[in-house]
Parts: sequence; structure tokens; C-alpha cells
Amino acid sequence: MSLAERLNALRLSLPPTARLLAVSKTVGLQAIQEALDADQRDFGENYAQDLRDKAAALPSATWHFIGRLQRNKAKYVARAASWVHAIDHIEQVEALHALRAGPPLRALVAVNLAQEATKGGVSSAAVMPLVEAATAYDQVQIVGLFTMPPMAEDPAANIPFYEALADLARQGRRAGHLLTELSMGTSADAAVAAAHGATWVRVGTALFGARS
Ligand SMILES: *Cc1c(COP(=O)(O)O)cnc(C)c1O
Repeated sequence: MSLAERLNALRLSLPPTARLLAVSKTVGLQAIQEALDADQRDFGENYAQDLRDKAAALPSATWHFIGRLQRNKAKYVARAASWVHAIDHIEQVEALHALRAGPPLRALVAVNLAQEATKGGVSSAAVMPLVEAATAYDQVQIVGLFTMPPMAEDPAANIPFYEALADLARQGRRAGHLLTELSMGTSADAAVAAAHGATWVRVGTALFGARS
């Protein structure tokens, strides 16, 4: 199958409520251009400098930063990204706010639901205080939640995590926050995540092939 065919197959497998974020980390400009030509608009990168370089080369795409944001890299993200998926500290919000010109960045709070030490993200209990604190910085608008569940053989094992994330967002909306976006699901389980409320699924390998 060609990249355009893989994109189409993936789109057909998702409900209209889930948008496809093509994770283009380690992928060259030519393949990204090919995806753009096949009407894929949104691309995700997890290294700030790669995002800066690719956004400069392909400004017609919409760029999402999906990695852990370090303060000294915030300038690249603030300038080149439209979305930031994995905020887990108020200092990141503060830095992005100070550096952002133009329309506010859309941002999601990363939640570490299984409390894995090797991953970023805040605990469930820390979500609302962070969302609350971020309202002081209007160049960053928190619009949803992000998660990356523990590695599992069976995609169904992720369902409790996706339900928990959707539940947290509902609680936030009841408290008056705009938590309408859920970024969850990768190549292994995009359809499962979409069926449980994902508004963004983050798919790399299934589109661009295995990363070396
Ligand atoms: C790499 C990456 C993905 C994509 O994973 P695939 O298995 O290649 O689909 C999704 N989310 C994040 C945060 C990533 O870093």
C-alpha cells in the first residue's frame, strides 16, 4: 500500500469524531510532503528542533508538539507549533505564554494515569489544579487531556485508561473548563481509543513504517 492508501484506510477505520495526527518524528520531508498531498494536515513531532526545522520547510502543515517540553526549547515550540499535547508543569505554560505571538497555542495536559516513573504527565489529582493555574496565561489555552497508557499486548487493556481520561475531562467541563480534546491512541490501538472518545489519535508507524 502507498502512504495515500494507508492514510485513506486509517481514516475509514476512525469515527468522524477522531482526527488523525500523523506522527512524523524521524520521517523525512519528502514523505511528509506526500502525506500533505494526500490531504493530511496535522503532524506531530516530539523533538522541538525537529519541529522547528520541519515547520520552516513545510509551513502549510499544522504542527503539534507531542514530546516532553523543556524550558530552553519552548521558543521553538511557541513559534512553530499550533498545538502542544503534553503539558505537565505550569512553568511550561508560563514559558510558552511569554514567547507566543499570534493566536494562542492550544495545549493539552498530559496525565500519567498508571503513575509510571519513566513517563511525564501529572497524576489525576493534579490535573484540575494545573488547568486552573494555566488560566492566568492567555497565550496558552488548555483545551483537553493527553495520555500514553503503559505498553500492552492487547489494545483492550488500554480501555480503562481511556475511560479514566474521558472521565477527568468530563469533570473538568463540569467545573467550567474547556476540556473538549482527548489525545490518546497510537498505531497499535487508534480505533479502540477513538471508540472511547479520542478526538486526536497519534499514529506514526502505521502510516510511515517502522522507525529505525
Ligand atoms: C511516537 C509517538 C506516537 C506514535 O506511535 P506509533 O506507535 O508509531 O504510532 C504517539 N504518541 C507519542 C507521544 C509518540 O511519541
